[in-house]
Amino acid sequence: MTVREALAAAERRLGAAGCETAWLDARVLLSHATGWSETRIVAEGRDSLSPEAEAAFEEALGRRERREPVAYVTGRKEFRSLDFAVDARVLVPRPETELLVESALELLRKRAAERDRDLVVVDVGTGSGAIAVSIAHALAEAKLRASVRLVALDRSGEALTVAVENARRLLAPPRSVRFLRSDLTSALRGASVDLVAANPPYVAPAELATAPPELAYEPRLALDGRGVDGLAVVEHLLADSRRVLRPGGRILCEIGSTQGETALRRAESSGFESAKLLRDLSGVARVLVAEVPGASGEEVRRP
Ligand code: GLN
Repeated sequence: MTVREALAAAERRLGAAGCETAWLDARVLLSHATGWSETRIVAEGRDSLSPEAEAAFEEALGRRERREPVAYVTGRKEFRSLDFAVDARVLVPRPETELLVESALELLRKRAAERDRDLVVVDVGTGSGAIAVSIAHALAEAKLRASVRLVALDRSGEALTVAVENARRLLAPPRSVRFLRSDLTSALRGASVDLVAANPPYVAPAELATAPPELAYEPRLALDGRGVDGLAVVEHLLADSRRVLRPGGRILCEIGSTQGETALRRAESSGFESAKLLRDLSGVARVLVAEVPGASGEEVRRP
């Protein structure tokens, strides 16, 4: 079978199985099965597949036809140009979380330029480690005046295993992030944190029930936001973060596309101020930002 024939047949099968991005999925899975780049696959359509590659492709297609996420079939997901290892122990990192990381980096660069002491950043519910590891990776090159200490927490020991492996593979030195098992921020003491950056579970139970079949493969713990509106975990996270953040500290929390206004109100009733929403390129609110009242500028105003 040639590459072109294999791709055409795969696209038909995946389309029939209800996959919305059948052509793209077929290309990614064939690249995985052959070890060839996607560019080569598109350019060299007349190349023949080896029997081994055909068998590997068939296996991958079967899994995708059952609507397993592509990232679990390949075991890989790119996030901010970094190649994360993923499997069913962790949520697949999504592009909307890149917005949160961008905004975290912007804040950290600004604050590190303003003050001398170390900054402490906590990724709550780190999953694959996408947030903490990509922040550490981006800051490794930046010449900041203050150093940034990163802590990544997860309730799931299995998720932490994946995150630690990603840190080991993607960071030098991998120890630039500390991983701890923790239900929300319960493992942390005192008000010592400058930034909480989190992608907590926020899908409403009713939505989970009607979600695309791919979501059923992902850890429920990482998706189910509980409460009628899916914001019960976010509410706990706000209260918990309020406890560990320094005065002037900030939380960046990913939320669902329809939860903006409710999330703003919850942030304010949890004692945060200056709550606002960050929007993605299509104008959809995807991240809640809020600050703990207090002397955020005190260290800046030197005589
Ligand atoms: N963005 C994910 C989805 O809608 C949800 C991720 C989460 O709950 N943190 O599929």
